[in-house]
Amino acid sequence: MGSLDRAVLTGFICRLCSEMHRVVLHIYGEEGLRLKISEKISRYLSINVSRADPLPKTICKTCLERLESQHRLVTVMEHAAQLLKRNSSDLEIGRGKENNDNNNKNGGSTL
Ligand SMILES: [Zn+2]
Repeated sequence: MGSLDRAVLTGFICRLCSEMHRVVLHIYGEEGLRLKISEKISRYLSINVSRADPLPKTICKTCLERLESQHRLVTVMEHAAQLLKRNSSDLEIGRGKENNDNNNKNGGSTL
C-alpha cells in the first residue's frame, strides 16, 4: 500500500478545467477525501465524479481554490440564512409609528 499523500505528479489532466498540470490533487487521495472534493464537485458544479468513471480523478490547484471559495461562499450564505430565519421569529416587527412633525409656523408679518 503506497501512501496517497503525495499529490505532486507530472502531467495530469484536471477534471474540472481539462488542462494539463504538474501539480494536482487526487480527488480520492488522502487530502482529497479529507477536503471532501468529490462531494463539493457534485454539490456545486453538478458534475458527478465517481471512482469508477474513466475520467481523470485529479484537479488542479486553481480549480481547488475556486471550489473551496465557492464552498466558503455557500457556507457563509447558509449560515446567514439560518441567522435571519432565527432572528425573524424572535424579532417583533415594529409597527412603524410615523410622527409627522409639520411645524409650519406662519408668523404673520405683512409689510
Ligand atoms: Zn483545473
